Amino acid sequence: MKYHDLDNWDYPIPPKSHILENGSREQIRYVQDRSLRQLVNYCWEHVPFYRTRWEKHGVHPSQIQTIDDIYKIPIVTKEELQQDLNDNPPFGTFQGDFQPCRIQSSSGTTGMPKPFFLTRWDWDVITNLWARRLAAQGVTSEDRVQVSLTYSQFIPGFTSTEGIIKLGATVIPMGSGAATSTERQVILAKDWGATVLVMTPSYALHFADVAERMGYNLKKDFKVKRLIHTGEPLPKALREKIEDRWSAPAFDNFGSVESGGAPAFECEAKQGMHISEDAFHFEVVDPITGKNLPDGEEGLLVMTTLFKQSSPIIRYSIGDFTSIDRSPCSCGRTFSRMSSVRARLDDMIKVRGTAVYPTSVEPVVRKYQELASEYRLVIDTVENRDIIKLQAEILEPDKVDAQDLMDKLGRELKVAVGIKCEVELLPFGGLSNEASAEGRIKFKRFVDLRQK
Ligand SMILES: [Zn+2]
Repeated sequence: MKYHDLDNWDYPIPPKSHILENGSREQIRYVQDRSLRQLVNYCWEHVPFYRTRWEKHGVHPSQIQTIDDIYKIPIVTKEELQQDLNDNPPFGTFQGDFQPCRIQSSSGTTGMPKPFFLTRWDWDVITNLWARRLAAQGVTSEDRVQVSLTYSQFIPGFTSTEGIIKLGATVIPMGSGAATSTERQVILAKDWGATVLVMTPSYALHFADVAERMGYNLKKDFKVKRLIHTGEPLPKALREKIEDRWSAPAFDNFGSVESGGAPAFECEAKQGMHISEDAFHFEVVDPITGKNLPDGEEGLLVMTTLFKQSSPIIRYSIGDFTSIDRSPCSCGRTFSRMSSVRARLDDMIKVRGTAVYPTSVEPVVRKYQELASEYRLVIDTVENRDIIKLQAEILEPDKVDAQDLMDKLGRELKVAVGIKCEVELLPFGGLSNEASAEGRIKFKRFVDLRQK
């Protein structure tokens, strides 16, 4: 293919997207070089947030000619974006002056949500990228896809729905458990023969718990062939549990409202998530020095939206730990891959001087068939000492020796977390209902009661 054929590259859906998904590194670079030049020139003239910062660092758009020049641009942190919003409410100075068609925001676990504008072009590209990820995960026009994500400021409900339509499949937009009760979702998935479920990983297990309690057999009564996840990390133990219960592959996807959604997706090889590198530039840096790390080394993800008109992000440190793999994938795609996000900087919490990540307890909790899907870590101060406690639900209390289970969990958690953990076992229902009522935007696996 001639390179000038890529001059009007519009981030298409499959099959056309395979020109670049399976293209040469030179072709991918060609698109990245051109997009970065356009983006930097636009931001210099129209996005005060960037121009102010770049002037301070002595960076001018004339110095940015190829994608390798991106490293001359200073990294932006979440805190700097927040400061801009505080100083220039309500939208900050990073949105740009394109006419937006919608405003989406971060789910805002603390403080006010961060707003991000999107243009019609942005929306069109992002929903195309969703069509790509669905195709990579085996969805075809024959499928009936149930979306159980909330339709709200949380972006992937809408973008996945439009991606499904663009791919030619049939969408069943169900919304979260708060919009359509899980019991009703179970019945409709069964009666209408949903073949694909799009939901958070924790909801896939809750859905399974509820369906079984209603007397259904997941393997016989449903036609689900694959589960597509976003919104929460999908650690190995969680994926195995979902796949075992549903007897179907579960796929991980990476996204965030800052990126506009849908930058990276697993293929059927499930060996890391391919980055849509025509639309995004991903790099990994040392969390302390900010220096770029070699491929394969884990560090903080820094991302750039090459395609985006409104609220573009350039070298933005999103707070996720990952690594990048540029080796060839068995699926044939040449897009680089990022490893599944093991931990988020935002989720890290210090307890008695030890850094604790909620994802570290996941493999322990998922091992026990006696436990339901939901669990939570509570940090509290008891007699002037910080304690950490796991709350988990027992499915059938009559059949379990609770003390024995608590002892076993306590021992394993100490190894996994690094400090002593208390264990509280609850009857099935409380945590699950709370998680479900919250609409599954992100069920908080960490509750810190220390300063309250
Ligand atoms: Zn692949």
